[in-house]
Amino acid sequence: MAYKTINPYTNETLKTYPNATDADLEAALATGHKLYQQWRQETPASRQPVLHKVAELMRAEKTPLAETITKEMGKLIGEAEAEVDLCADIADYFADHGAEFLAPTPLPTDAGKAYYIKQAVGVLVMVEPWNFPYYQIMRVFAPNYIVGNPMILKHASNTPSCAAAFADIVARAGAPEGSLTNLFISYDQVSAAIADPRVAGVALTGSERGGAAVAQEAGANLKKSTMELGGNDAFIILDDADWDKVKALAVDARLFNAGQVCSASKRFIVMADKYDEFVDFMKTEFAKVRPGDPLDRNTTLAPLSSASAKTKLEKQVADAVAAGATVAYGNEPVDLPGQFFPATILTDITKDNPAYNQEMFGPVAAIYKANTEAEAIALANDSSYGLGSTVFSKDPEHADAVARQIEAGMTTINRAWITAPELPFGGVKNSGYGRELYQLGLDAFVNEHLILNA
Ligand code: NDP
Repeated sequence: MAYKTINPYTNETLKTYPNATDADLEAALATGHKLYQQWRQETPASRQPVLHKVAELMRAEKTPLAETITKEMGKLIGEAEAEVDLCADIADYFADHGAEFLAPTPLPTDAGKAYYIKQAVGVLVMVEPWNFPYYQIMRVFAPNYIVGNPMILKHASNTPSCAAAFADIVARAGAPEGSLTNLFISYDQVSAAIADPRVAGVALTGSERGGAAVAQEAGANLKKSTMELGGNDAFIILDDADWDKVKALAVDARLFNAGQVCSASKRFIVMADKYDEFVDFMKTEFAKVRPGDPLDRNTTLAPLSSASAKTKLEKQVADAVAAGATVAYGNEPVDLPGQFFPATILTDITKDNPAYNQEMFGPVAAIYKANTEAEAIALANDSSYGLGSTVFSKDPEHADAVARQIEAGMTTINRAWITAPELPFGGVKNSGYGRELYQLGLDAFVNEHLILNA
């Protein structure tokens, strides 16, 4: 596997990185394990200043950090800057709240004075994807730094410069060696790391295929794992929806990050009497999208992250059309050299169409018609995924009642997907298990250690 920075807008190979050796991996495991032993003697609060410093450096260096993202995986520069800001907020959040989240919890019992403390468990492996190349790392790094779990990072092979930039910031913030070791390792080396007794767990964000492979390794070695996988989120417009809100949010809900968001709205479910109006609205809005240089602030549609991402999406759309889907808009080649896929709308996707249960990781919206609310809910739940979802209704009780019926880890009402340090993120079904962010993210890899004094 080659770790390379290829600009998906220019197709230029900017940098190639050598793979790490087994000796590099062994050194990272040894250093991480030694640090874990040292951190066990220290308080979480003692690690707080480094996380604040990481946040400060990220904000100060937002421009070059954002440009590294844009040149490496194509994200629009404004979105890349927002990602850097969000990462700084996550670092500050766990610096501010980590010690409180780790405070001892008393346990009323007749057996004596009992409480439990949350302690570090050891070195973690994190396997991360390219779509939010800093944010995905930060979701694991910030809570586990406060907990005291050293980390080994295996980032996506197409975002090595982002991995290196993140590790560099952590080192310059004063984190001890071994806190976060970025290694350009192979799948076999990831497996070897998971099997190593010094490693306590693995966190992965990525595809079902990658998640299943890594979860299998974790299970075989009795290591805890968290899996943040794909999604095919429903955007449900109920009959009492506020259409101004729907129209303000629907396009961005699908096209943000060129559609490469696990929790993006991918299936728009509309009541029959509003269906034509909604399809027309989306067509009009998608026609306004401007593909172009992601460093140009006037561009509104970025290239996909890589040639392989484009090839995969082209095939998915071709297969959907061959199986009877209608192209309501788009699916015409973009006349630019980069890895562009046009903003596209598919309709008439029947249950036997492969697209019905596929995540399309790009700017492709699928619009479905529902005759009743029950049908809309059933359609939303008829998916192997269960990450996020969105419900639109002017009536808060109605919206809440529908939201609770959706099989998903996250449902937003009257707004599209969101991520914030204080909101837990994760899914059910094939979207994975475990949560990141908020206190639940910090709890993922701790030893809830019972102390009972009879
Ligand atoms: P992958 O799951 O292949 O990649 C995510 C990470 O997992 C990368 O670091 C990758 O390394 C690593 N990886 C994959 N397989 C293994 C393995 N067997 N052992 C160790 N590490 C592994 O996702 P892709 O980049 O191929 O994206 C494909 C699809 O995944 C997308 O179309 C989308 O559906 C989904 N996806 C979901 C994301 C989310 O946020 N939930 C993010 C990205 C993708 P390497 O890059 O070296 O292959």
